[in-house]
Amino acid sequence: MVKICCIGAGYVGGPTMAVIALKCPDIEVVVVDISKPRIEAWNSDTLPIYEPGLDDVVKQCRGKNLFFSTDVEKHVAEADIIFVSVNTPTKTRGLGAGKAADLTYWESAARMIADVSKSDKIVVEKSTVPVKTAEAIEKILTHNSKGINYQILSNPEFLAEGTAIEDLFKPDRVLIGGRETPEGRKAVQALKDVYAHWVPEDRILTTNLWSAELSKLAANAFLAQRISSVNAISALCEATGANVSEVAYAVGKDTRIGPKFLNASVGFGGSCFQKDILNLVYICECNGLPEVAHYWKQVIKINDYQKSRFVNRVVSSMFNTVAGKKIAVLGFAFKKDTGDTRETPAIDVCKGLLGDKAQISIYDPQVTEDQIQRDLAMNKFDWDHPMHLQPTSPTAVKQVSCVWDAYEATKGAHGLCILTEWDEFKTLDYQKIFDNMQKPAFVFDGRNIVDPEKLREIGFIVYSIGKPLDA
Ligand code: NAD
Repeated sequence: MVKICCIGAGYVGGPTMAVIALKCPDIEVVVVDISKPRIEAWNSDTLPIYEPGLDDVVKQCRGKNLFFSTDVEKHVAEADIIFVSVNTPTKTRGLGAGKAADLTYWESAARMIADVSKSDKIVVEKSTVPVKTAEAIEKILTHNSKGINYQILSNPEFLAEGTAIEDLFKPDRVLIGGRETPEGRKAVQALKDVYAHWVPEDRILTTNLWSAELSKLAANAFLAQRISSVNAISALCEATGANVSEVAYAVGKDTRIGPKFLNASVGFGGSCFQKDILNLVYICECNGLPEVAHYWKQVIKINDYQKSRFVNRVVSSMFNTVAGKKIAVLGFAFKKDTGDTRETPAIDVCKGLLGDKAQISIYDPQVTEDQIQRDLAMNKFDWDHPMHLQPTSPTAVKQVSCVWDAYEATKGAHGLCILTEWDEFKTLDYQKIFDNMQKPAFVFDGRNIVDPEKLREIGFIVYSIGKPLDA
């Protein structure tokens, strides 16, 4: 029986391995992590992450051919194929701070693999890493162990949180990069054999290592760029009376462009887009390509601009101050169907409103109060000036309350901001909400999920991103 071990039981490692275990009953899969609470949660009825369909997959194979463990070294030593799916955040200190990927976790995983391995291994980069990381990993592995053959593969993950299981069941493509040597080709084939259990052959792409590593950064940069592009157009729509939904529909009808990922919003979030673009920017700079670096950096600048534009719109609409006013915030996760708040635009929007002394009442169906308070208390990293942290004052956090109901959040509020596109926000009783709010009652729809005309009929003053404003 082939044995797989995955280092890192996070948003990627957990679901990816659960699906491999489900689709490959002839393979034993062990997911290991240094975090005891995370592993305990994976072994319990309350999984550490919320992802539609995940509970069902885990229940079907946990204890059969899927295991979660903190005994990292034992399972790494026993595995034939080791996926490494540890976090690769942006460096906050030292060389490349604010842009480069922090590969500390990766390096310690690689050193541990070298320490405990007694047989040949295929080591798979599942984390998103800078192009050429495989070269560094090879050096660490081969210089630290003798007589063992390591084949490094790049197999970046393209799943999106909120649709992870669907994406893993039916991936647009599986990408595998390897060395163009006989051993390299054998390793690529071994990984292809795993995916071939359920992924059609024409969807499994093989490339050289550097193409695979770079493709993941490029894919995230392209996706984020589409969002920043439509958001940039949304600002122009508001200035001119055009409607961004109509513009996006017309633009997306061009088959060369396509309709997906063209929704204007308060901005993108999540742990990946910003960090991967910053990483790309850093790699371009290191390779003497400042113009290319500048080009990609604009994607992040527009995203920051969109968030501050939203805050400014809220404050200016509400007679230039929100001091002492209650603002209801519906949604805190960076997108629907996840509880993940990493880099969520809600953090910056809430901080902006708190800066103007608003009282905020937040409701999100999957985000806990602790998580929200922690996110809002955290210092914001200043990407342009990495040595300067922008502190949130501790009193600001006292201006925040978290409730478990949209109606409770909006009771007595002067304004309502929709910051995550949860389906339940589309079907709320807005008449009831209006009746319980201060007047004039404002709605600021940061995801364009409610019909502004219907809300206007109720009596709300409505701002939807990129759409004509109230007269
Ligand atoms: P995560 O923070 O949720 O999980 C990483 C896990 O690795 C943590 O549980 C951590 O405790 C563990 N870990 C770190 N060092 C370890 C070590 N030495 N030994 C054992 N465990 C260790 O991160 P994530 O969201 O799953 O992302 C992982 C990687 O996948 C990142 O590189 C990310 O960019 C990439 N990625 C993420 C997504 C996504 O949607 N989250 C999608 C595609 C790719």
